[in-house]
Amino acid sequence: MAAINDNLQAVAARIRDAARAAGRDPSMVRLLAVTKTQPPSAVEAAYAAGQRSFGENYVQEALDKQAALAGRTPGIEWHLIGPLQSNKTRVVAQAFDWVETIDRQKVAQRLSDARALDVPPLNVLIQVNVSGEATKSGVSPAGAAALAREVARLPRLRLRGLMAIPEPTTDRKLQLERFHAVRELFDRLNAEGLALDTLSMGMSQDLESAVAEGSTLVRIGTAIFGERPKAKAAA
Ligand SMILES: *Cc1c(COP(=O)(O)O)cnc(C)c1O
Repeated sequence: MAAINDNLQAVAARIRDAARAAGRDPSMVRLLAVTKTQPPSAVEAAYAAGQRSFGENYVQEALDKQAALAGRTPGIEWHLIGPLQSNKTRVVAQAFDWVETIDRQKVAQRLSDARALDVPPLNVLIQVNVSGEATKSGVSPAGAAALAREVARLPRLRLRGLMAIPEPTTDRKLQLERFHAVRELFDRLNAEGLALDTLSMGMSQDLESAVAEGSTLVRIGTAIFGERPKAKAAA
């Protein structure tokens, strides 16, 4: 658990260095700790080290973890960063503070309808598929503006910005190119009058490139918690 604390500090230093190298204020880049496949004790260790924002990919896994941690992590903030099926919108609207993977109007509408009136609106990001074939989730860059305008009108959602997962690559030039494309889209939507403040991009391998291109939220799993177990073989 000391390792998690050390790793969090190392990631914070990477963010700081990358921001400074780009002439950006490091405090403008938030860290989301990605805890998929990690036990509740890993969340608690990061929480004890001061981390408050956590990302999960699978709805049921997140609910189980939240139940295991009930009452022990006041002020914790949960982001859904995995694909969202429309039959899960009701529970997701209750259990999460952010949904980063909006790529269809129907899902957004259902989340808005399901979000309770006695809590703040659900923060949402539109997931943009910047790498074409490489990932299946996300709206095409060409379709993002229309979807953003529709989502921004929904009463119980607060559209905060964009999220992207470019194809994994160690080619820094390609990393920068992908993140730059998302950043340009983000700037264009803001120029059209949407007040977006969040650009969720960058993971353990490519956070420096993402921060260089304007990321305000990096989603980091491996660099904090270590390698994840490989996906289970199909039963
Ligand atoms: C798993 C995951 C991450 C974290 O990836 P690491 O390479 O472990 O840092 C970030 N974003 C999404 C959407 C993920 O699924």
